[in-house]
Amino acid sequence: MAKLIDKITPQKENFSQWYTDIVKNAKLVEYGPTKGMLILRPYGYAIWENIQKELDPEFKKLGVENVYFPLLIPESLFMKEVEHVEGFAPEVAMVTQVGNKVLEERLFIRPTSEVLMANFFEKEVKSYRDLPLLYNQWVNVMRWEKTTRPFLRTSEFLWQEGHTLHNNSQEAQEFTLKILKVYETFMRDVLRLPVVVGQKTEHEKFAGAQTTYTLETLMPDGQALQVGTSHYFGDNFAKAYNIRFQNQNSAWEYAYGTSWGVSTRMIGALIMTHSDDYGLVLPTKIAPIQIMIIVVKNTPELLDVAQELKTKLSHYRVQIDTTDRSFGYKMSEADLKGIPLRIEVGPRDLATNSATISRRDNHEKTVLDLAKIPGVVKDLFKEYDANLMAKAEAYSTQRTSKALDLVSYQDQLVRNPGYVLVPFCGKVSCEAEVKQKTATNSRCIPLPKKKNSPVKQLCFNCGEPCDLEVYFARAY
Ligand SMILES: [Zn+2]
Repeated sequence: MAKLIDKITPQKENFSQWYTDIVKNAKLVEYGPTKGMLILRPYGYAIWENIQKELDPEFKKLGVENVYFPLLIPESLFMKEVEHVEGFAPEVAMVTQVGNKVLEERLFIRPTSEVLMANFFEKEVKSYRDLPLLYNQWVNVMRWEKTTRPFLRTSEFLWQEGHTLHNNSQEAQEFTLKILKVYETFMRDVLRLPVVVGQKTEHEKFAGAQTTYTLETLMPDGQALQVGTSHYFGDNFAKAYNIRFQNQNSAWEYAYGTSWGVSTRMIGALIMTHSDDYGLVLPTKIAPIQIMIIVVKNTPELLDVAQELKTKLSHYRVQIDTTDRSFGYKMSEADLKGIPLRIEVGPRDLATNSATISRRDNHEKTVLDLAKIPGVVKDLFKEYDANLMAKAEAYSTQRTSKALDLVSYQDQLVRNPGYVLVPFCGKVSCEAEVKQKTATNSRCIPLPKKKNSPVKQLCFNCGEPCDLEVYFARAY
């Protein structure tokens, strides 16, 4: 019989290897034939589907409509917004030839779709009555990466990208913040990830954006991971692509745009934040299987009890493990796959009309009357999810420190790797210098922004007076 687990390297021994082992052994992905491109196996894809199921309705509540735009962007079109081009050009893959024929114009494989949307909006929008346009698409994008890691950084990945267009700047800015709130609620309530929400510095903002908002979360190795962004473009793209509308006074104005996205990277964040040396640990709303019923032996009596339980729990994602594997193997597999609750039924339980419920997060076991089980699941899920969040939040708090100068900043990175809050001038050149000296960069200016603090501080790197406090960290 094939072994269930090849090997899971203990997290404390080698974090990076532990992560790769979990991803492989839990059968989430397999490496594809092209370097940096992954096959999402059924169990991995099911997690993505559950993310979509939870998030998509929240966009629609804001009036967002789903669309599909093409994969390829003509080079001439891509080149119109200069900053955007500079930001993406190094990692854009392109189609240059079809069969034996070299194409007259190269076609870029979308690294993101601002350009295609802008080109469409230019034709679509004539009057203030045509606005707002609130679009989203669930697609793949391609950004050629030198080093790749499953879910965290791959040359092709899945995401949703929202693109909106508004007839005034205030509405567009408010929309970027509405989406940021949707993301934050989703990360906290569904994924159980404690996120720091903030604004990117000039150095770190999206290519072509006026303002970039971000959600950051801290991984158990002390590195930050950006899990979502929302950008306000002002009229940058509208000017580059001539997206104009006639206002109520029949005068022509440029429109205001936003874009926002989250990707399969969130799955990487989930795995790293909650899992342990036994395998995955998944929050209940995302787990492809929420409850696994395991019988000690596949006897008709025990299977009957299991089936009856399954029927009573049918409003959850519940399965019975009817394979001919040993009881121990089945239990380990449920652990490996991060199934939140396991219900174990054996011959002795049959005699007492009971079963054992076992939690994946803390391995707590409770023997309960069969009749009582359907009534306790809801509360158990609540406690389980709250426990995941509490653990992650405690870690994040413990790994957040402050520093006033570069020496103490670097010292914190060694002593307590995580977020370090520092006074920072916000200048691009100053941040480039920090990056060069420390191989770290800013994560965000936390929101809500503090208004000019009464005590003037000095930038932790250049020493100039400043009133910003910014999170810096090592990051994925
Ligand atoms: Zn500075």
